[in-house]
Amino acid sequence: MKNVAVLGSTGSIGTNTLKVLRNNGERFHAIGLAAGRNVQRLAEQADEFRPSWVYAEGDVSSQRLPNDTQVLHSQDELCDAVAASDVDIVLCAISGTAGLKPVLAAIRAGKDIALASKEVLVMAGAIVTEACKKSGSKLLPVDSEHCAIFQCIDQHPADSVSRVILTCSGGPFHKRADINLATVTPEQALKHPTWNMGRKITIDSATLMNKGLEIIEAGWLFGMTEPQVEVVIHPQSIIHSMVEFKDASIVAQMGYPDMCLPIHYCLNYPERIPSVARPMDFSQSLNLTFEKPDTQRFPALDIAREAMRHGGAAGTVFNAANEVAVQRFCDGDIPFDCIPAIVRATLEKDASLPATTLDEILAADAIARRHAAAFAELKA
Ligand code: NDP
Repeated sequence: MKNVAVLGSTGSIGTNTLKVLRNNGERFHAIGLAAGRNVQRLAEQADEFRPSWVYAEGDVSSQRLPNDTQVLHSQDELCDAVAASDVDIVLCAISGTAGLKPVLAAIRAGKDIALASKEVLVMAGAIVTEACKKSGSKLLPVDSEHCAIFQCIDQHPADSVSRVILTCSGGPFHKRADINLATVTPEQALKHPTWNMGRKITIDSATLMNKGLEIIEAGWLFGMTEPQVEVVIHPQSIIHSMVEFKDASIVAQMGYPDMCLPIHYCLNYPERIPSVARPMDFSQSLNLTFEKPDTQRFPALDIAREAMRHGGAAGTVFNAANEVAVQRFCDGDIPFDCIPAIVRATLEKDASLPATTLDEILAADAIARRHAAAFAELKA
């Protein structure tokens, strides 16, 4: 029996994680659940899974919780709980940067991490990977593309890989040259063609900022340089990513789009056991296509590459500016096509901020958010 702490349990990945735990009740126990504001759903989850503790940003005092479930009242208490001896693995699916501190606390205590929150690596990849090296924690990528690459690389040494190829659905506006990106509404951007995900990542998929974040994430996870991370548009989202080895062989991982599969893989790693995922049906014709991304119309990929090449605070700044710009777009304040412009302007201003310690990273994040908000104001 593995004790799993699920951070971000009320979100899209969190509920899929609980589905995996529900289907494998004899293998897993949800020892703790953490959420943001949706305290009602958190209480319902606690009622079903009977965790030892819950944590929420919002006020849980109005909710009925099981008698033996302890309520944690601060991020510090959450950090202590994920580091405690009864936790075996922490699955982090908190959107944004709030996952960084608990993930670091768990890594420093030697816990394995199933990581969905790509922001954690984009923002603080050097510190997180260094902490893993020191404590021996395994960083298991839940993000479907990185989980695919992880499976393809398997036991092969890092220097046998020549490049990794991230597949990208293209989002709702790929192939829609008729749509003027300056007039896109949040409702249009929230209609993803193949994946059902949280709001922020769905907007990021429409701008291709999500793929930009994933380029940087792949660099940290697999020790790749910027030119070694390629992106290819694959609208069917069947091949989740590929790895090219030095001998020019390409290994791919495929399956229907369903986040339960990478979650199941990470929680059971290194074992392979039956999952809830639908097996591929090859009796139906399957048309898999690959295209080059349009970086003129979607500049996010090039901006992410600049941030990756720059290093230092650039990942932190890229992520923070994007979060601010996405929020302003969702609030109806700025046009969709201003999101990359705001990220680029903030990067030009703040990429060289110091970022070697956690405090410096948090400071760079705060400064970049202020500057991105000011740039957004100019576009509003
Ligand atoms: P959602 O918006 O659906 O869920 C986010 C979760 O984080 C919710 O449970 C939310 O709580 C919680 N949360 C927000 N702020 C805090 C906080 N300060 N403290 C504790 N919990 C908090 O997002 P997704 O599930 O879609 O994505 C989660 C992460 O996984 C993101 O980093 C995303 O990039 C990544 N990811 C998602 C994929 C997907 O298919 N959805 C695929 C690959 C990666 P509440 O709802 O209660 O406010």
